[in-house]
Amino acid sequence: MLSVDEQIELEIGARAELEKLRAEATNEEVDPQAVAVDVAIGRLSRLDSMQMEEVRKAASRSRNQRIHELQEALRKMDEGSYGICEGCEEWIAYARLEQRPEAILCGACSKRIQVPRGR
Ligand SMILES: [Zn+2]
Repeated sequence: MLSVDEQIELEIGARAELEKLRAEATNEEVDPQAVAVDVAIGRLSRLDSMQMEEVRKAASRSRNQRIHELQEALRKMDEGSYGICEGCEEWIAYARLEQRPEAILCGACSKRIQVPRGR
């Protein structure tokens, strides 16, 4: 079970992480470089930049996924259902939540259950 202090710590951590990810997402949207590079260079470099674009998109997808999970964690904190494993309904260890405040499974269940990600 989480103490009140621990819950507060985790909420602060989750909010800070969420802010950071949102700031990153915003910076990326207004980054004009990705477009400009495409115009100025030849075909091979353009393939490179297309690959980079794929990498960037993948990173962006996983970031959006994390934003979603953190929002979900904050919603659960409001509800008071935060920190309980969705697999076995036991409390998730504080150390684990400290690492990943958006965790919805305890260590044992995360090894047992494959959480579908993204899409
Ligand atoms: Zn569990």
